[in-house]
Amino acid sequence: MNPKRIIHLKDGKSESKKQYVIYWMQQSQRVHYNHALDYAIQMANQHDLPLLVYFGLTPNYPDANLRHYTFMLEGLKEVKNILNKFHINFLFKLESPEKGVKNYLKNAHALIMDYGYLRHQKLWRKEVLDFAIENCVDLQVDMVDTDLIVPVKVASDKAEYGAYTLRPKIKRLYLEFRDFSKITTIHNQKKLEFESDNDLSNIKKLTDSLDIDHTVTASPIYKGGYIEASKLFYDFLENKASDYINSNDPSLGLTSKMSMYLHFGQISALEIMDRMFLAIDHGHLDGASFDAYIEQLLVRRELAFNYVTFQKGYDKFETMTEPWAYMTMNEHELDRREYLYTSEELENQQTHDIYFNAAMKEMVYTGYMHNYMRMYWAKKIIEWMPTYKEAYDTIVYLNNKYFIDGRDPNSYEGIAWCFGKHDRAWTERSVFGKLRYMNAKGLERKFNIEGYVNDVQNIVNNCHSIVKS
Ligand SMILES: Cc1cc2nc3c(=O)[nH]c(=O)nc-3n(C[C@H](O)[C@H](O)[C@H](O)COP(=O)(O)OP(=O)(O)OC[C@H]3O[C@@H](n4cnc5c(N)ncnc54)[C@H](O)[C@@H]3O)c2cc1C
Repeated sequence: MNPKRIIHLKDGKSESKKQYVIYWMQQSQRVHYNHALDYAIQMANQHDLPLLVYFGLTPNYPDANLRHYTFMLEGLKEVKNILNKFHINFLFKLESPEKGVKNYLKNAHALIMDYGYLRHQKLWRKEVLDFAIENCVDLQVDMVDTDLIVPVKVASDKAEYGAYTLRPKIKRLYLEFRDFSKITTIHNQKKLEFESDNDLSNIKKLTDSLDIDHTVTASPIYKGGYIEASKLFYDFLENKASDYINSNDPSLGLTSKMSMYLHFGQISALEIMDRMFLAIDHGHLDGASFDAYIEQLLVRRELAFNYVTFQKGYDKFETMTEPWAYMTMNEHELDRREYLYTSEELENQQTHDIYFNAAMKEMVYTGYMHNYMRMYWAKKIIEWMPTYKEAYDTIVYLNNKYFIDGRDPNSYEGIAWCFGKHDRAWTERSVFGKLRYMNAKGLERKFNIEGYVNDVQNIVNNCHSIVKS
């Protein structure tokens, strides 16, 4: 592993032999290509200790609902089974992880955490570290970034202006971070006597028992877990990747659908990239398609992580974009809006725009939407709400409620982009000012957008009554 992935947070002075090494799995919910897990196994082996992988499930995760919990638990069920096969202890607890994990630190030689880039994820890790500093003198604490190909602060020590400033930095470094080959075998396979709160065999029963928002049902199309991610990616490589340069057209369905798996850490971006390299080596893929995909997976995705790292108020209207964008919005705040819709009308697909309605429908029913339609969808909300702040709040609300990949660094950056972040000023016009404008005519000119509308309708027809009112 490239040592730049590791942040050493606290020394341990282990005088007496401890019972295990603990890996608190939170962001990276997988076994394959998990550097944090591998690092924890290696440390356990060095000290001839077993490994305990801890996962705490809180019903209060910000903005999460049944759709998100189901997807996540489908992945965790697989994680548990694989870890069992590898003779690694997996402890699943129904408790807030930053509180629960503290109960297992006293007897641990070391705590390994994976890296989480959002504010609450950082606060959780800080709380646990502070507790360890106060109460566990002999515990070593390390954090490992296994979510990104190039960790944010290795690539850049500042907020980047856009993809064009980050790209050369990342491109210089990313080959150094092709640094995973195979998960290490655990030597000490002792079974630890901890009782999990649930065996994860019946996810429906578990989610029924959770005090969470049940109004957004699980996606009937997308199932969570590494195996599903892997199958989908295989299909992408076989049937779509070589045409990826045309993937901007929402009617062609040429994208990989990896974002939801990446969001829960169920597959690693590095594994995806390694598979793309393999496809090139085997002659399945040409350089142009490879480059186009890597631009999204590596540059655009990592720009979003740079954004949430350095833009402190990344999730507030007042602090998420550039001064020029606020200036132009101030100047156009009172412009007359031709159409005005409430948040409910938008959510219920009751607008005059069939393309918006189709996109919103896809999102509500399946939990996914194509990138181009996400841009169009958000731009229309900006156009149809009385104020920019209301538009921003509505976009974030709907994004995080329905998208399986919602509540991600990509969510906040993607939305901020619609308000000018990492974009440039365009020709001034009503309502949008200098923000980039998108319209239905553009969709009609560039794509078979009718085809997209029909596809969504077909998907919906195949789903039964999915969203409870
Ligand atoms: C208004 C708006 C809201 C968005 N909300 C989210 C969100 O909640 N969660 C989320 O993960 N993404 C979000 N995005 C970014 C992007 O639309 C999705 O990541 C992408 O559509 C996921 O589909 P895919 O995996 O099939 O992409 P592919 O085209 O197959 O791309 C492969 C991977 O590259 C990355 N990627 C692709 N497009 C982008 C992009 N524009 N910015 C950053 N990374 C990208 C993703 O990790 C994606 O999985 C949003 C974009 C906009 C404009």
